[in-house]
Amino acid sequence: MRSTPVKEPREARTNLLGLDREGLKGFFAEMGEKPFRASQLLKWIHQRGVTDFAQMTDLSKALRTKLEATAEVRIPEPVFDQRSADGTRKWLLRMDGSNAIETVYIPETGRGTLCVSSQVGCALECTFCSTAQQGFNRNLTSAEILGQLWFAVRELQASGLERPITNVVFMGMGEPLSNFAPVLMASRAMVDDDAYGLSKRRVTLSTSGLVPQLYRMAEISDIALAVSLHAPNDALRDELVPINRKHPIKDLLAACKHYIQDKPHRSITWEYVMLDGVNDHDEHARQLAVLLKGIPSKVNLIPFNPFPGTDYRCSSPERIRSFATILLKAGLTTTTRKTRGQDIDGACGQLVGRVEDRTRRRLRREQAAEATQ
Ligand code: SAH
Repeated sequence: MRSTPVKEPREARTNLLGLDREGLKGFFAEMGEKPFRASQLLKWIHQRGVTDFAQMTDLSKALRTKLEATAEVRIPEPVFDQRSADGTRKWLLRMDGSNAIETVYIPETGRGTLCVSSQVGCALECTFCSTAQQGFNRNLTSAEILGQLWFAVRELQASGLERPITNVVFMGMGEPLSNFAPVLMASRAMVDDDAYGLSKRRVTLSTSGLVPQLYRMAEISDIALAVSLHAPNDALRDELVPINRKHPIKDLLAACKHYIQDKPHRSITWEYVMLDGVNDHDEHARQLAVLLKGIPSKVNLIPFNPFPGTDYRCSSPERIRSFATILLKAGLTTTTRKTRGQDIDGACGQLVGRVEDRTRRRLRREQAAEATQ
């Protein structure tokens, strides 16, 4: 007699949305199923956007029933959607309770970039970033990271765009290398031909510079790397990106060189936020040129995006141009990032989401502000 499998309670079910090919193979092996099921599931979920096992018609009826009992494809729930005058879109997606994260889509001619979050808030305290002010709640799961891409693809397709996303950048909320395994699992599904099939050069992890994790990443991944440098010497970087006190510039550069060492035609993108009177002098540009000498590099100057409560201001366009000219003359490929989606607070460093802060950072900040009043 065949019995219908008992349905696992929701929390016990595996969310297949978050598994890459190897993860799915492992999941099916435990069920006594063949590895090729992984390809089938990747295609159903990520290419066709199907979340209901009953519709996965090339799986046997028995397998579909088993999947319904033990697994699920659970996608994030939108809280709201904002559209910028320049075409940029931002979604606030609920992760659990009152925690929510932001995902931003930036259309450009010939490409579309999705900026995904890797954590609810951020545990680092970069002084010029508004996510840092929100405090930190938790890491996202790989399902919650891939869920952002799944969701954006469907939304954009519904607006009539056929292949809307060509690039993914881990430049939303959070420090991706603090959430190592889920981020790398998600990145593998992004480049898998049966899922999103993105080029590994078009999936970029941006880090503030966690040195041990960079070495680990070099062992298992070859996606593109961007590093938030923001200062050409330790004294200044210690102040702007406090994790530098633990992993100073020399160690960071060594880890970055190691990352691209056996990867032909690869370079590191150095992000450098332009802060008026802080890190934007000609001397800083000259120091930066010396620092990056001999490393295959692209420098991306980011005009600072203000947020409530910050004392920083963005460098003037002329200052940014002079800074760029010094780098260009030194032979460094240099671009200035166009600020997009600022009218919907969707620009770099403006993502705040809704974070149930567990670090009490916001509270401490407010108390400190009161004490100085
Ligand atoms: N934690 C990761 C990824 C998130 S930030 C990292 O540090 O790289 C993505 C980029 O936006 C980083 O280069 C970050 O330094 C930059 N950024 C943060 N706040 C900003 C702001 N207010 N204006 C402009 N860029 C900012």
